[in-house]
Amino acid sequence: MYQLEPSEAKNRILQLTKELREHNYKYYVLAQPSIEDRDFDMLMRELEDLERSFPQFIETDSPTQKVGSDLNAAFETVPHKRRMLSLSNAYTWEELDEWHARIQKAVEKPVEFVCELKIDGLAISIFYENGEYKQAVTRGDGTQGDDVTQNVGTIRSHRKKLSAPSLNAFEIRGEIFIHRAGFEKLNSERVLKGQPIYANPRNLASGSLKMKDANEVAKRPLDIILYHLLTDNRTFDTHWQSLQEAKSWGIKTAESSRLCRNLDEVKEFIKSWDTKRKTLGYDTDGVVIKVNDLNTQDELGFTAKSPRWAIAYKFETETVETTLKNVSYQIGRTGAITPVADLNPIQLLGTTVKRASLHNANEIERLDVRLGDTVMVEKGGEIIPKITGVNLSKRKSDSTPIIFPTFCPECNSPLIRKEAEVQHYCSNEIDCKPQVIGKLEHFVGRKAMDINSIGVELLRAFHESNYVKKPADLYALEYNQLMKLERMGEKSASNIIEGIEQSKAIPFPKVLFGLGIRYVGETVAKKLAAHFLAIEELIAATKEELESVEEIGSKIAQSVHAYFRVPKNIEHVIQLKNAGLQFKSEKKELDGDILVGKTLVVSGTFAQFSRDGIKEAIVANGGKVGSSVSKNTTYLVAGDKIGPSKLAKAETLGVKIIDENQLIALISGNSRIEE
Ligand code: NAD
Repeated sequence: MYQLEPSEAKNRILQLTKELREHNYKYYVLAQPSIEDRDFDMLMRELEDLERSFPQFIETDSPTQKVGSDLNAAFETVPHKRRMLSLSNAYTWEELDEWHARIQKAVEKPVEFVCELKIDGLAISIFYENGEYKQAVTRGDGTQGDDVTQNVGTIRSHRKKLSAPSLNAFEIRGEIFIHRAGFEKLNSERVLKGQPIYANPRNLASGSLKMKDANEVAKRPLDIILYHLLTDNRTFDTHWQSLQEAKSWGIKTAESSRLCRNLDEVKEFIKSWDTKRKTLGYDTDGVVIKVNDLNTQDELGFTAKSPRWAIAYKFETETVETTLKNVSYQIGRTGAITPVADLNPIQLLGTTVKRASLHNANEIERLDVRLGDTVMVEKGGEIIPKITGVNLSKRKSDSTPIIFPTFCPECNSPLIRKEAEVQHYCSNEIDCKPQVIGKLEHFVGRKAMDINSIGVELLRAFHESNYVKKPADLYALEYNQLMKLERMGEKSASNIIEGIEQSKAIPFPKVLFGLGIRYVGETVAKKLAAHFLAIEELIAATKEELESVEEIGSKIAQSVHAYFRVPKNIEHVIQLKNAGLQFKSEKKELDGDILVGKTLVVSGTFAQFSRDGIKEAIVANGGKVGSSVSKNTTYLVAGDKIGPSKLAKAETLGVKIIDENQLIALISGNSRIEE
């Protein structure tokens, strides 16, 4: 029984509901989860338990009552013929036994099961008619999904024509996923191109299926396995029978599935696949156990979120033990020191793990980890494995405590640890090589000066030959100097000079971001540039003035203020300015009259504006921002996840729909949208 007071329970329910909604959005829509699946499931269970004890506080649309939505505005949304639900989970034999007991109680006769591996991809519903592929729809929010027919059509293992199916029309559901080898290859290519990598194969599969250009989707090595046939009228007696039939028509079903006569056989299947699955080449996170008899399935029915006739038994996240040989220290561009564990190489979920992050001195202390210890290493849904504990029973008498350095391992300058921060920093911002290279890399990066002809190897070469020690030095580079570098060709040298020259046109917010001031990310840089308009104003701003800018808190204000109180930083900015870089916001971007007399309604989320930022830009250009679409609306500016009702209304009233790029082109005077 819960000990919580009702008011505490209410607060906790509200907090969990909010957190879970956010995690659903990151996982399903952005394909960028920020917590482990197991932790997510534990939060969900806590909420379920609390809601059971305090049903009066259940929020409408609680995440316990509906499946997480992956709807994406780029695709047409279509209603599902039959709801697509989630699965309830079991983590222990006990929970599996309880589920089995519930079924036996309801059915009172021996029940057979089909065991299927739970592939870690994304669910898809596919329709065939007269042996031909008709449509593919994602799970969406369970009642409606995104129509991805064209994209699914590009998957090589997906059959567009079937051989003599015994049904005229049917739906078949399954999983779209990516093999680990394809995932690793694609990620290494992205690293080379300086693009962000995908955290795991599931995210890559879901990101790939939601690309707008089917030709691009075709280049991604997606695979498909189908596992659930659905028909309007009952044609088969059992789930197993329907799978065998589908397979005989040429549909790709799972080879590993098995018909089990009882719970013991189910457990045998789970035990055998817990190890065998590592040889598969793609990720599986459990076994789905389904009641085989379709009439029994009907009898058992559904909860709001999942069928009662099926359950997902989740495999334990794999943990392996290995020896901690050494700890090395990485220095980031801000000077932050990250301890990295050097491990005896070990196989973990199909890859060899040699290193794991130890995060900071506190983490080392928390784990009480020592050199020579046997440590537990785990890989959840993430690429970088982590050390989760120490096997103290194996600690040898000669294990040595880890002494966190007090001087920078690269440049020997003293390390500092600011109050209330867990990280240590190298104090030598100007000359510490990894910091300098890191700062230069940040400066030339895509989101800053975007000089793609310069990569990190070249920056190291520039540094070693004393050509470039700070961003401003790039602008003094000459062709002849470059030609003196080893393996430098004429064409590359020209490209580098040209790239540097072109970067002089990069707008102020990006230049500001490129300076690498602590806590000044892309959005903050945009806010500061829009508010202060010119670098001189920003340099002169007091902490209070900085804090008065929307979304700028005291930590950022403090950091910006401190940065411009260092004479070397000011000197550097002056050098960059003299080199011709943009240190002023373009007035016309922010202040024009092109939208006078026009009313714009904005909906959804935007890549280049915050929600308020886009409204400010409209007002600054003379436009009015309307809250709902009406016949007086000039444009509906549509972002990601646009509200369907606004979209429908705009279409009915014939209101022109534009995206943020069209809006930017319009206010920067580069486009006239046809009216
Ligand atoms: P689920 O993944 O637990 O189970 C349902 C899904 O399993 C189906 O939609 C289908 O895609 C898949 N599946 C694979 N093989 C199958 C088979 N043979 N038969 C039937 N289905 C099969 O449920 P869910 O609702 O998609 O997601 C919930 C899970 O996602 C949670 O367990 C959680 O771990 C994870 N999640 C994580 C985060 C996060 O932030 N880390 C956020 C949201 C969800």
